[in-house]
Amino acid sequence: MEGNGLKRNLILFGPPGSGKGTQADLLQRHQGLEHIAPGDMLREHRAAGTELGKMASSYMAAGKLVPDEVIVGMIRHRLEQGAVGTGFVLDGFPRTVAQARALQELLAQIDRPLDLVVVLDVPTEELVERLSRRSGVEHREDDRPEVVTERLAIYRDQTEPVLAYLADQVPVVKISGVAPVAEVNSSLLRVLL
Ligand code: ADP
Repeated sequence: MEGNGLKRNLILFGPPGSGKGTQADLLQRHQGLEHIAPGDMLREHRAAGTELGKMASSYMAAGKLVPDEVIVGMIRHRLEQGAVGTGFVLDGFPRTVAQARALQELLAQIDRPLDLVVVLDVPTEELVERLSRRSGVEHREDDRPEVVTERLAIYRDQTEPVLAYLADQVPVVKISGVAPVAEVNSSLLRVLL
């Protein structure tokens, strides 16, 4: 059974390195939610050498946000393809208030309002440590220390305000992201019930 009664239209919110991708993958595998991650979509575009990928690549390498209209266009396309299944988990979107406004419009159009925003809470020192560890394993160019600093600053300045915007419209819960993956996953499932 696919978790009847589970909250199924979600945003997983949190800073870079908080574990959104890992948890969203688990929700996709075990709860059948569609994992929608613009960061992954952009990396696929870049690997495939599309115009969009080429255009996004310098922003990504510098840890800057890709322009809103590009990201919103990409998400609109994905949502219009009906890729929301029985539920979806947005990971890395929205990252600006403009993106959040656009998202609310898109979801209203397809009649799939958000059920919940889950914030993964991880202290900055732990994020820096995780991302520097990851840079040694995955060699993501944006995990280099100077780029990590930029990504964290952008999160604080442009992405955190999204939470206040969303909190007026959607329930928001915060869970600790500092625990083994399976434990964070259990906390996450508990708040989806
Ligand atoms: P992380 O959450 O670890 O920073 P992501 O894979 O989500 O990593 O994003 C990698 C990069 O892709 C970002 O630094 C940014 O350049 C770009 N990107 C991803 N999502 C968005 C978004 N919603 N708006 C603008 N740029 C984005």
